[in-house]
Amino acid sequence: MNSALRKEYLAALGLETWTLRGAATTALEPVAAPAPFNEPAPAVAAAPHPGVQRAEEAPGETAAPRETAPREAAYDWPQLRERVAACTRCGLSATRTQTVFGVGNLQAEWLVVGEAPGAEEDRQGEPFVGRAGQLLNAMLRAIGLKREQVYIANVLKCRPPHNRDPVPAETMECLPFLDRQIALLKPRIMLVVGRIAAQNLLRTDATLGSLRQRVHRFGASDVPLVVTYHPAYLLRSPAEKRKAWEDLKFAREVFARG
Ligand code: URA
Repeated sequence: MNSALRKEYLAALGLETWTLRGAATTALEPVAAPAPFNEPAPAVAAAPHPGVQRAEEAPGETAAPRETAPREAAYDWPQLRERVAACTRCGLSATRTQTVFGVGNLQAEWLVVGEAPGAEEDRQGEPFVGRAGQLLNAMLRAIGLKREQVYIANVLKCRPPHNRDPVPAETMECLPFLDRQIALLKPRIMLVVGRIAAQNLLRTDATLGSLRQRVHRFGASDVPLVVTYHPAYLLRSPAEKRKAWEDLKFAREVFARG
């Protein structure tokens, strides 16, 4: 990707003062430049914050695979999609407009996992199509990924009313669908956005701050899993975008390392 294009993508992410060295390599180092007043001050070097432990120093958590009920374990993509569309396992089926299965390339190496559909997703039947989705697209582009190249899914396939947090009974019923999506997709890396998705996938109460910048492992195939902020949170707290940018670069490094 040429530097002008990457600059454009970083601008869309709200990090227009950052440029990258060696665009074709994985060494994505921001260089210092004057920051506009409302953007995070750029770091001079890519050294991790003293409080941030890198993967080599602090392996993340390994989430044991959940028992995938036989009914999900046997489904192929069309069957799974059909099952999700017809699902009435929890009360959200009564309030949804439609289910939001997931979208993207079935050969994708990257799987992005969010929390649950919002109003726009509920209307359109596709994850991350609202404002948070626009920012997610920009975040992906900033590390050279097109939305069409990855697969995007949520922990919940139905919108919780008023975008409230999912309750445990809902995630318990819905997670087997995501588990099956992961088993079918076999991603090389999972990028998990937001506390709720991270806590549910890693089965932990740990804070998002303590989960980011570490390589976690997911499921029987030990897929590397990296956590970052939810784009909706970044829209509310743009000062955190710099940390999200660090996480994105970190995820890219993890992916490149294989
Ligand atoms: N937030 C999410 O977590 N997922 C979506 O699909 C949209 C917003």
